[in-house]
Amino acid sequence: MMPGCVEWPEEVAERYRREGYWRGETLGDLLRRLAGTHGAKTALVSGDSRWSYAELDARADRLAAGLRELGVGRGDRVLVQLPNIPELVFLCFALFRVGAAPVLALPPHRHSEIGPLAEAAGAVAYVVPDTCQGFDHRELARQVRASTPSLLHVIVVGDPQEFTALADVERDPVPLAPPDPGDVALFLLSGGTTGRSKLIPRTHDDYVCNIRVSAENAGLNETSVYLAALPVAHNYALGCPGVLGTLHAGGTVVLTPTPSPDDAFALIERERVTVTGLVPSLAQLWVEAAGWSRQDLSSLRLVQVGGAALSGELAHQVGGTLGRLQQSFGMAEGLLSQSRPDDPREVLVSTQGRPLTPADEVRVVGKDGRDVPRGEVGELLVRGPYTIRGYYRAPEHNAAAFTSDGFFRSGDLARLTDTGHLVIAGRVKDVINRGGDKVPAEEVEDHLLAHPEVHAVAVVAMPDPLLGERTCAYIVPRGGAPSLKTIQTFLRKRGVAAYKVPDWVEDVSALPYTPVGKVDKARLRADIAHRRGGRRP
Ligand code: AMP
Repeated sequence: MMPGCVEWPEEVAERYRREGYWRGETLGDLLRRLAGTHGAKTALVSGDSRWSYAELDARADRLAAGLRELGVGRGDRVLVQLPNIPELVFLCFALFRVGAAPVLALPPHRHSEIGPLAEAAGAVAYVVPDTCQGFDHRELARQVRASTPSLLHVIVVGDPQEFTALADVERDPVPLAPPDPGDVALFLLSGGTTGRSKLIPRTHDDYVCNIRVSAENAGLNETSVYLAALPVAHNYALGCPGVLGTLHAGGTVVLTPTPSPDDAFALIERERVTVTGLVPSLAQLWVEAAGWSRQDLSSLRLVQVGGAALSGELAHQVGGTLGRLQQSFGMAEGLLSQSRPDDPREVLVSTQGRPLTPADEVRVVGKDGRDVPRGEVGELLVRGPYTIRGYYRAPEHNAAAFTSDGFFRSGDLARLTDTGHLVIAGRVKDVINRGGDKVPAEEVEDHLLAHPEVHAVAVVAMPDPLLGERTCAYIVPRGGAPSLKTIQTFLRKRGVAAYKVPDWVEDVSALPYTPVGKVDKARLRADIAHRRGGRRP
């Protein structure tokens, strides 16, 4: 692994190899093998274009050769911020082959997120679309380049202006020294247990295990057609089983420009999509739209729902309207807990399934760090063959986020049923789960404190009928209270991703404190839930 990463202890790594969790195959080799066995079969569909496994393999080789010529090499980090377009898939495989790791930023991220990420990663290149959803990413790239000394290249999908076009990077394939299966394959971003996003190093060995076991659990095979509705840059649609799991099984991946029922349903009918993954708010929209849509959705065999809490009622509706439900609880740091095909109906709708492998170790602990009795709620700690042992270049944070024997403190509250199923019961980490988008409260508070009219602030979740939670900022003003609009404009100007901007502001003369002197967020959450009663802002 590269410096700045925490390795699994050697005897543990040896066990994971011996027990077949880690099979010594890199993601680049995996595509080569698939091109050998499934060459002419369609691997990827986007709009009216299709790529076979052989074409995807060749494309990755050409791009890898071009990246190498630019000087991108083994162990480098490349910041990638692309929407669900085929170039994201080509580029990831090219980087896997070069041995450089993509750092997968989400399309809504702006300078306030991308700047610190580029720096923390020491990125040598930044890959963006020309524009996306009306936003010019080249403008953002100019800012990032000015603030990131390590950044040598900006590569653009589309019109590059003064930068390099991705289309011009391809070269005739050259032999490349393969990375080691224990090398970092990619970096995912943490939802932010505290403060800012951390970089999550996932190795080839561990991520291939992740995609294989989740593809097996979803029953994927050569006939599977996966619709990537959520951002592929996120772990869920990338590898749980997502795009990579589908390819691992020899299936076909279909990219949709947006997850709206209009776009997605048309593709489901046209491509005979069999499986997809949704967050609860999107599942709700799809269930409603399926009621009036004329599109034929009968090919859907499995609909995963996860990323945020799913109500029992919606769980029933998904199963009844869209296709067989699979609940999915997971985290970019690793552990996946998902429903099994043979789960009884009651277990299916009321639990978040079971960890995917017998080697996943889960503990549920109380505030004193000791295991609580089975059935009681506590913090979920996890360890296993596809759960990291530390964030990248974050020794201080790691000391708090992991136990001394390597369990990751997930920050989620959970209980284990008698049957070993997990029920997620809330969280201890200070993150708002806005329909699957994670909003780190502390980061937003820091931005708000920079406003001259804000004296003190606490950001908490408020209940929302569609997204589950939205963001409410309790503000103690210095003089005149800033309006919601003022606050929203201020954060956007600071380059904060739109999903992190508060949905609601409450002015207060003082914040409540707990006896130990911390802001009493539980009280604020109860207060806003009571006042707003789950109404939409
Ligand atoms: P991320 O790393 O962005 O995938 O976010 C992981 C976090 O999302 C978890 O630690 C949970 O807080 C939350 N999460 C994921 N899946 C679920 C689920 N099925 N139910 C409730 N919360 C979830």
